[in-house]
Amino acid sequence: MGRERYDLVVIGGGPAGYAGAFEAARLGAMVALVEAGRLGGTCLHYGCIPTKCLLHTARVAKGVRGASRFGVTVQGDPLIDLSRAQAWKERVIKKQLAALSYRVRELGIALYEGFGYLAEPGPDLHVVTVSGSPGGSPETSLTAPRVLLAAGSREISLSLDGVVLPGSAYALSLERIPATMAVVGGGAVGVELASIFSAFGSRVTLIEALPGILPAEDEALASELARLLSRSGIRILAGTRLKGAVLTGEGYTLALEGPPGEIRELTVESAVTAVGRRPDSSGAGLDAAGIVLGRDGAVQVDRRYATTVPGIFAAGDLIGGYQLAHVASAEGEAAASAAMGPDASRGGLGVAGQEAGGGRTENGDDLKKATDAGPDDRVDYRAVPRAVYGFPELAAVGMTEREALALGCPLAAGTAPLAGNPRAYLEGEQEGRVKVVARGDTGEVLGVHILGAGAAELIAAATPVLRARGTLADLAGFVYAHPTFAESLGEAARAAIASAR
Ligand SMILES: Cc1cc2nc3c(=O)[nH]c(=O)nc-3n(C[C@H](O)[C@H](O)[C@H](O)COP(=O)(O)OP(=O)(O)OC[C@H]3O[C@@H](n4cnc5c(N)ncnc54)[C@H](O)[C@@H]3O)c2cc1C
Repeated sequence: MGRERYDLVVIGGGPAGYAGAFEAARLGAMVALVEAGRLGGTCLHYGCIPTKCLLHTARVAKGVRGASRFGVTVQGDPLIDLSRAQAWKERVIKKQLAALSYRVRELGIALYEGFGYLAEPGPDLHVVTVSGSPGGSPETSLTAPRVLLAAGSREISLSLDGVVLPGSAYALSLERIPATMAVVGGGAVGVELASIFSAFGSRVTLIEALPGILPAEDEALASELARLLSRSGIRILAGTRLKGAVLTGEGYTLALEGPPGEIRELTVESAVTAVGRRPDSSGAGLDAAGIVLGRDGAVQVDRRYATTVPGIFAAGDLIGGYQLAHVASAEGEAAASAAMGPDASRGGLGVAGQEAGGGRTENGDDLKKATDAGPDDRVDYRAVPRAVYGFPELAAVGMTEREALALGCPLAAGTAPLAGNPRAYLEGEQEGRVKVVARGDTGEVLGVHILGAGAAELIAAATPVLRARGTLADLAGFVYAHPTFAESLGEAARAAIASAR
């Protein structure tokens, strides 16, 4: 078996891996990209894109149902043809995959289909073997002074009484709409699945162990979203744990433990889990290579995304913290550029992890609260937007009010209900609001939270303000087009300024 020589070998072809490969190739490197499944990773095949395709189908159906209010008469209730919706989803994925594959070819990146395994780490040259199955006999051997690990994450599966409940990938591939569905987990993925199938006509129960859905988001907006989801017909059982599951001929009977008076048993045709994802650090020989893993198997890195082994970098879901595609690709690019830079052969984390500082290590979550991202940080975690694409959407950037309170400085907060926004009202999208949280002393904007139609797009207007450490006066002073949802950003900032007086 010959050894093919490259400047960089990337293990994993999801957003972190392909963005890293593209960046290194743009910098002139000879790059090999190893992908065990499908180029595009979780995001393209089982995550961001398929969910948004089915959500769009759901949005179209909702629009048709509510059309008569705006003077458009539609005969009868719209019918959802799930197999056609799935066909549309597959077409979208195929198109995106073709665009990605074209880019790989155009940049001269060598794509290897198979499982990458870190066979011989360093010191100057790493060897990555590629095999047809995990742990299988190597078919190809690649060498490079630098390796970028981007193996992503795996869904946490729930197994109760020997019954393994299927996860989000299964839900997204259903060809028939179940009459009843239980979604276990009230995070972003759970809310999106519940929103899709409820709009398709399933009677959906969303089960969340914590007291409310979307626990990482602004409490007030998350509970307003819960109220709106309930009003649309989704039954939310918060503070409720799944204790058991029995597979029946028609579906599942779930045993629940929750607040007094709530149901203890639920019989549904379909049950899916969305209880989180874990870094996928088990299959690529990382342990044997001496790469230090943290909590939940996340690969530990320093600010340059260097692991503890010189020349080996890591990015994306594999390093824990945010599990978002745009964070993964930003990190992939940053890691690739560090890998190609002058200090690339330096091992990460220094002595006892000193270099990690405010960087993203085991405690990636803390970065969301960090206010002192250093100048060498390519990815500014303070200004990472996040979005939940339910009906309506919830999007945010920066700190929640609760997180900002922990800073111990005076705060100013203001909200603007969308009911007062002409565009939102005329489109029948008046549910929700914009909330701005800032320092009361300097006016620096710390967080912007939006509940409402198009929130995931609108948050892009607030992100640069966070990135530039802008103030309430900046946000209030921009000229917004009229009539737009964006005007509510200015309104919320003015309300926050007034609250600080
Ligand atoms: C249902 C769902 C909806 C989501 N929606 C959104 C959203 O709307 N917006 C958003 O930002 N994020 C969303 N996400 C999260 C997003 O998909 C991930 O954060 C993103 O895909 C992470 O990118 P990654 O490159 O780190 O990992 P992945 O996309 O998981 O890619 C890792 C790749 O590595 C490959 N691999 C693993 N081990 C090996 C090996 N040994 N050799 C070779 N290849 C290997 C895998 O096959 C995989 O293709 C969603 C996730 C899910 C599950």
